[in-house]
Amino acid sequence: MGNKCDVLIVGAGTTGIPAAIFATNRGANVILIDSAEKVGGTLHLSSGSLSAAGSSLQNKKGIKDTPENHFDESININHGTGDIAKLKLWQENSADTLEWLLSIGLEYPENQPVAAAGHEPYKIARITTPSGGGKTYIPVLKSALMKIVKEGKCELKLNTRMKNIISGSDGVVEGIVAVDESGSEQSIYAKSILLACGGYSNSDELWKEYHNRPKRVYTYKHSNGDGIKAALKLGAKIGLKDNLITTFGGTIDIDNEDDYWIHTLTFPAIRKPWEIFVNNNGKRFLNEEELSQDFRERTIMNQPDWSCWLIYDETINKESPPLFRWDDAKIDRAFKTHSDFCKAETLDELAKKCNLPFDNLYSTIKQFNLGRKANSDSWGREHMPLPIEYKPFYAIKHYAISVVSFGGIVCDDNLKVLDKNNKPFKNLYAGGEMLGMGIWGNAYLGGSSVGGCLTMGKLLGQKFLNW
Ligand SMILES: Cc1cc2nc3c(=O)[nH]c(=O)nc-3n(C[C@H](O)[C@H](O)[C@H](O)COP(=O)(O)OP(=O)(O)OC[C@H]3O[C@@H](n4cnc5c(N)ncnc54)[C@H](O)[C@@H]3O)c2cc1C
Repeated sequence: MGNKCDVLIVGAGTTGIPAAIFATNRGANVILIDSAEKVGGTLHLSSGSLSAAGSSLQNKKGIKDTPENHFDESININHGTGDIAKLKLWQENSADTLEWLLSIGLEYPENQPVAAAGHEPYKIARITTPSGGGKTYIPVLKSALMKIVKEGKCELKLNTRMKNIISGSDGVVEGIVAVDESGSEQSIYAKSILLACGGYSNSDELWKEYHNRPKRVYTYKHSNGDGIKAALKLGAKIGLKDNLITTFGGTIDIDNEDDYWIHTLTFPAIRKPWEIFVNNNGKRFLNEEELSQDFRERTIMNQPDWSCWLIYDETINKESPPLFRWDDAKIDRAFKTHSDFCKAETLDELAKKCNLPFDNLYSTIKQFNLGRKANSDSWGREHMPLPIEYKPFYAIKHYAISVVSFGGIVCDDNLKVLDKNNKPFKNLYAGGEMLGMGIWGNAYLGGSSVGGCLTMGKLLGQKFLNW
């Protein structure tokens, strides 16, 4: 193939792999590049939940469902936001994607599908999550990919990072410039180019520019927004970044301060609350028992710095079910070494360590204890087994965190990249998080990103890409 092909795909991840497989099925010769040393992209970290309506897994359990049901429920969960055409594109094709995955060897546990997996629940059970999470997809997808590589239909170039898109004077996209691990540049030319290189969740620069926020994420290190930056340089446009919504309750990983993830069990469906949450003014801001993830997510985004402190005392520390997903040694290390994990002999000292106004913290705790005693909490909470009164006192900083990026390159309904005048580039396509997960709306729809990215990749290969 050399450095010329019918279809060049940038990114051998969730979107890029199915796109390569289905494009070669239609006769294309494909070059697939990835900046990483391995294929799979964000699936290496992802929990891997996928939602699909009308699948054989639902049929087996007698669950009646249609893409229309899926759409109606989604619009309800996302408050009527998102890109309607893309939602429909995904949902009308999601069952086919799942059937394809099953046909190439993916397995889900017997209890699937379910209605909820960490986000606002659907009414109908349509979410499937492999027992090994997102990683489970990789060997299955990789084996289908390596088949087309062995057959000479697809050339896979790893450790090869796209730097720029090459376009002619007429604006037609001709290829890309990429850099390999030795640092040498190569130009690769193609009749069509698909940008499937993920989002910008790992870019400090784009977090600042699009959200004016520090990057607090748990994300694939190659999600640097390269594809978005290259497309913007060419005259594409960014959309949907205001659909950003974060996940409630991440903490910093003391062993890798770049990572923020859910290390504590603060979701009441999993562990009822014993502690209280206070914002940076030392005040409670929600009923810790609130079950709506969507409500929790919106509420933390309304607090100063999009962060808060979980507060408890020594009796709760001893009596409550485990709060952390970490082992005792790591918890101990966190309180000894990191300023996000505070322990103090008095509330005054705790307030100083956390930089919280003492008067507010003191009166918040006093009010909680009194409300508990009278069985009448000011926020309506019912599960209050113990007061907060015995030293030492503990505080853990929690943040609004992200695993995906919400803004992305604007595309038409056939996933062709649009320029600033809404005119499609003739031969430039984008799929997956490149479009911004804001296409699913200003909310988390369970299983939308994995399902949506695989489906976009499959459809691009099956019918959208032309060469
Ligand atoms: C912790 C976590 C949990 C998640 N859980 C879920 C879940 O349960 N359900 C769900 O629906 N979604 C979930 N998601 C989101 C979902 O996994 C992602 O949105 C989706 O996998 C992204 O697919 P993609 O194809 O757009 O990007 P990726 O799968 O990341 O693929 C992009 C590829 O492009 C490569 N690349 C990047 N830049 C370049 C470049 N310049 N040149 C060449 N290659 C490049 C990358 O190395 C990568 O391999 C989760 C995400 C995370 C981080």
